[in-house]
Amino acid sequence: MSEILDTLAHGAAPRDLSSAGWTEAYRRSVMDTFGPPQRILVRGEGAYVWDADGRRYLDLLAGIAVNALGHAHPTLTAAISAQLGTLGHVSNFFGTPTQIALAETLLRLAGAPDGSRVFFTNSGTEAVEAAFKMTRRVASDDGTPRTRVLALEGAFHGRSMGALALTHKPAYREPFEPLPGGVEHLPFGDTEALEHAFSPAAVAERGPVAAFVAEPVQGEAGVRPLPPGYLALARRLTSEAGALLVLDEVQTGVGRTGSWFAFQQPEVGGGVVPDVVTLAKGLGGGFPVGAVVAFGERAATLLGRGQHGTTFGGNPVAAAAALATIGVIERDGLLSNVREVGALLRQEIEMCGSPLVREVRGRGLLLAVRLTHPVAADVARRALDAGLIVNAVAPDAVRLAPPLVLTAEQAREAARFFATLTLPDDLPDDRPDDL
Ligand code: PMP
Repeated sequence: MSEILDTLAHGAAPRDLSSAGWTEAYRRSVMDTFGPPQRILVRGEGAYVWDADGRRYLDLLAGIAVNALGHAHPTLTAAISAQLGTLGHVSNFFGTPTQIALAETLLRLAGAPDGSRVFFTNSGTEAVEAAFKMTRRVASDDGTPRTRVLALEGAFHGRSMGALALTHKPAYREPFEPLPGGVEHLPFGDTEALEHAFSPAAVAERGPVAAFVAEPVQGEAGVRPLPPGYLALARRLTSEAGALLVLDEVQTGVGRTGSWFAFQQPEVGGGVVPDVVTLAKGLGGGFPVGAVVAFGERAATLLGRGQHGTTFGGNPVAAAAALATIGVIERDGLLSNVREVGALLRQEIEMCGSPLVREVRGRGLLLAVRLTHPVAADVARRALDAGLIVNAVAPDAVRLAPPLVLTAEQAREAARFFATLTLPDDLPDDRPDDL
């Protein structure tokens, strides 16, 4: 076994396996769209990972909200291996028990009514892309197709062309225009703007709304929860207009915020039942798997036979990974762990006494430490040097999205790092605005 892994690591030729050697090899072979790698990671266990030089890090990012069970979880490993050793892949002309069981499990956890259906993908972007196509299937009573889709400023929904049309950030969009049309971005959390978008005047000018798409907590915009009541208003307006309410829970779903779905928390969703929810990231515990849950009788009308598909979507090994991840979250009571350790992490960092820490915001174990100055990139670098993985999600915000298995002691370990933060000498003097 270790011989196979050694062969994989060496590739075509013997090489220098230090971090420096690997980094050089990376630069020569991998398209570094995210910049040069900060470290080359070779192993993980629980909430820790190790780099090629043998240094250990507390992983407070978990592959960006992915490794729900931490690294190398024995149940996840066993489930993947057992499924792969039984039936590794079939075409979409066939079903498998694992795929069906995962669909049933997601519908149960979502509290989805009769008629609801699941479409499987391999990533969050693909889940959003499928949801976007579903919005194109919404028609008015006279059969006229609707193409007007509302999204929010600050939104991140992925970077394939359809998903990118929903993503707001100009730097991601502009090099790839023209994008699919019809998307309008509304100011974040602004109820008046939302009501206006559905008003008779707006409909007369721009057409009826097909869908409203939002993340319950915007992840990439700096971990920004929607204000209470906002989604309930969006639900009322979309229902009245015959439009879809699409929630992108790629980052917030599968326990990350302390409930299976963020919309299930009264403070976030206000009891709404969405029409479509996208999932990925934490769903497979590190294995690439995404899903779209379409709610209720309308589900069957959203993607007709032959209208969408992917070779790998519903792959039994990916489904087994998701079932094992969900199974361990249920068995080990990880939703309450997320709420308790999340609250502790938040409190310990807010009270750590560093003059650089302004506040902590977010829900469960999706948090941002907001700084008094825009030095998040510097803080992330210092964290890495101190043996912690975090990410600068905004100039003044450091994101924490650790494994859901994080312990109270590990939360305190994280807070001890933030306590060491002093104001840097070369401080930019512009205080950040509210995101
Ligand atoms: N939607 C949201 C809310 C996300 O946070 C992300 C990833 N950051 C995506 C979609 C895209 O998912 P993926 O990277 O798996 O394609």
